[in-house]
Amino acid sequence: EAKRAGRNRSIPFGPAIAQEIGQRRVLEAVVRQAIETDGLEMHFQPVLALASRRVSGAEALVRFRHPDLGPVPPDAVIRAAEQSGQIAVLGRMILGRVVAAAGRLAAAAGDPEFYVTANLSAGQVTDDLASQIQALLARHAVPPRRIVLEITETALFGDERRAAQVLADLSGLGLRLALDDFGSGYSSLNYVTRFPVDIIKVDRSFTIAMALPARDAATQARQAVVRSIVALAEALGKPLVAEGIETPEELAAAERLRFTHGQGFHFARPMPCDDLCAWLAARRPRPAAGHLRLV
Ligand code: C2E
Ligand code: MG
Ligand code: MG
Ligand code: MG
Repeated sequence: EAKRAGRNRSIPFGPAIAQEIGQRRVLEAVVRQAIETDGLEMHFQPVLALASRRVSGAEALVRFRHPDLGPVPPDAVIRAAEQSGQIAVLGRMILGRVVAAAGRLAAAAGDPEFYVTANLSAGQVTDDLASQIQALLARHAVPPRRIVLEITETALFGDERRAAQVLADLSGLGLRLALDDFGSGYSSLNYVTRFPVDIIKVDRSFTIAMALPARDAATQARQAVVRSIVALAEALGKPLVAEGIETPEELAAAERLRFTHGQGFHFARPMPCDDLCAWLAARRPRPAAGHLRLV
């Protein structure tokens, strides 16, 4: 009966709302399960220096799998964790994984400067973040320069003075900070002046735009924004990463515009730590041919 009524009349509790509530429940369950069973995975995507094609570091991206639904988008899960008060625990788990992986990846790359970046969400930017990370670094014997924290506008939204203090603490520990999705929000320029930024990452929407023919006003505007971001990064002497490079054309555009670094499917997809270790080891600069013959 209720079913028939639902079909024939407009009722306040429509399918869209039901779907939304259902989705939120699923997401909260995914988070809870991941926490209880340690069931989250981290994948790592290489970041390359464009001039030398050397791998400078890797971005850690969380991966969730629901037993019935399969993979669930990480940004949706992070949002659900924020909304359901589980972000503190989840954030600690993610950082633990990232710090543990950082030592292994640097060894596989054979590069003491190799870094791993971790994305921070708003609920993680708390007063105890620096001491939390300091404890993890000590436990895994990882030097602070190995870790870069990626922050977005949404992660810093709210109490900006407090966020500035947390970021200053992290910077004081020797960790580096990257501004993520630069150019896509309202306050990017403000953040460059207010926070101790070491690396600037430009959102994929700009990477796409810079390889397009400048026919329409929106593309022209995006290309102008990219040029001004490059000028800004050069004036500040900061590394500038083009995110989401998928095609040779996008790579060529990033090089032409003088981005220093790039990341994207064109180079490699995000992958499990073991796979990236093998990928890095295979790319390591080889000793001269004369030495190889001795082995
Ligand atoms: P983000 O930090 O901007 O991460 C970059 C996203 O671009 C990743 O999506 C990555 O897989 C994707 N990507 C990389 N190269 C390419 C490419 O060539 N083409 C395309 N189309 N996409 C590319 P992913 O892993 O789905 O993550 C989405 C967002 O979720 C991230 O954006 C970040 O905001 C959030 N996120 C992921 N992992 C974490 C985490 O551990 N903690 C927090 N707080 N947020 C996370
Ligand atoms: Mg990121
Ligand atoms: Mg990004
Ligand atoms: Mg993004």
